[in-house]
Amino acid sequence: MKKLIIIFLCSLSIASIAQKKPVVHAVTDLAHEFTFYADHRFYSQYLPGQKGETNWCDLYNFDFSNYNLLILPGCDDRIEYSAKDIEIINKFLISGGGVVAFGSIKSKSTNKLLKTFGAEFTAEAKAPIVISEKLSAMIKSAPAEIESQRITSSLTFDQAKTWKVLIHDAGDQAVMATKKVGKGTLLISSRSLAGSNPNAKDSINKDLWKPLLIAISSAKKIDPDKELKGLGIEDLEYNDDHGTFKLSYNEYMKPFAEAMVDVYKRSMPFVEKRMGVPLSPGMASQVTLLATGGGGFSSGTIVALAVWWGGFPEREDGMIEFLTHESVHSWVLPYPEVWNEPVATYVGNLVMIDMGHQEEGLKRIQKTIERATKNDPEMKNYDLTGKLTGTGKELSDGEKNNIHWGKTYWVLEQLRKENPNIVADYFKLKRQYAVPGKITKYDLNNTVALLSKAVGRDLFDWFNQYGMPVDRNKAEIR
Ligand SMILES: [Zn+2]
Repeated sequence: MKKLIIIFLCSLSIASIAQKKPVVHAVTDLAHEFTFYADHRFYSQYLPGQKGETNWCDLYNFDFSNYNLLILPGCDDRIEYSAKDIEIINKFLISGGGVVAFGSIKSKSTNKLLKTFGAEFTAEAKAPIVISEKLSAMIKSAPAEIESQRITSSLTFDQAKTWKVLIHDAGDQAVMATKKVGKGTLLISSRSLAGSNPNAKDSINKDLWKPLLIAISSAKKIDPDKELKGLGIEDLEYNDDHGTFKLSYNEYMKPFAEAMVDVYKRSMPFVEKRMGVPLSPGMASQVTLLATGGGGFSSGTIVALAVWWGGFPEREDGMIEFLTHESVHSWVLPYPEVWNEPVATYVGNLVMIDMGHQEEGLKRIQKTIERATKNDPEMKNYDLTGKLTGTGKELSDGEKNNIHWGKTYWVLEQLRKENPNIVADYFKLKRQYAVPGKITKYDLNNTVALLSKAVGRDLFDWFNQYGMPVDRNKAEIR
């Protein structure tokens, strides 16, 4: 009985300790600027063990009731925080929430938001970057040195007295500062003081961010047991039905929706012609617009497109290549290609040619092939992954990638000389033969088996001759 009581007391004290542990519920806004880093990387990097969600929708529609930290990694300068966004950010602060806003001298739209709080990034910071005493007093184990990636920017304030400068530059200008807004805390930091790599391995200033984020979010009580809900792609405010696909987007992307629908609808028949087969039912049935000129992604049913890719909507050639690329990722399923990335852009270049951008399309094909001929003019010494299979030197990762892209293009261009419809004929055969149950995997042997059928001659020897080892006996497709 005594033992039982002791165990009971122990578990009770553990429970009370556990309750005192600070709990952070973070939401990262990626509706104003999409990056893969903004998608769950920041909080998981700097608040391990805490919970986080993302916002893909109109920020003012977000339910902040069980959140105590809002992360604003950035806002593309082609859009802005709306009056309603600014209102909800203020409300969240007043209720006790913590807000982290990152910016730089170049971030026009972020600066516009910060100005409503009386701050703005106005200059490049002068090295060295130094921790202020106020920060040392705020967190017990403040690091001795501050790390930064790229150029650090410094702030100017309307009323300096209302700000607590945590980090400053050699000229005493703030690069990180906080301000009380209602019960909450706004923290502004130069973007350079946190990670940015999508692999989340660049955890600079880790010892600083963790206690700091906990400190600024602690004024608002949240329910740690209640399930957190973010606002994802499936919650986007606009869902326009275009028959074969739905276009979903938020208010910030609304001005660009029409131009995107136009180019998408015009491109798809050309993509289908080049692919030889229609999309499988349900594939690429939802197209989503991302606030970026950078990358996009495809998950089969969802195709997410960077709305300003290649200078769109002013220019459309790059967008044709890009939306074809993302669509092809869905088209080739259930088995991704052995050259999944380059083949998707290659089809994009062919579609560019078909849609009146012949010169640009051919130029891109030529340039991509040159990426490989630089290291292997004869195309005989490396396989499709850049692994040395003939004579020559071992390649760096970058060079391997160049071979991967250039050689893929070169192979397909060689075969296109024999059969101008090689791509369509190949994918038609793939749809017929590469079926789960009939094959167990889709490798280069199966690929060459189908390419052989598509050109009408056995290509196994040709692939081996050009440094890409294949074995017809290992192909499941005969
Ligand atoms: Zn891709």
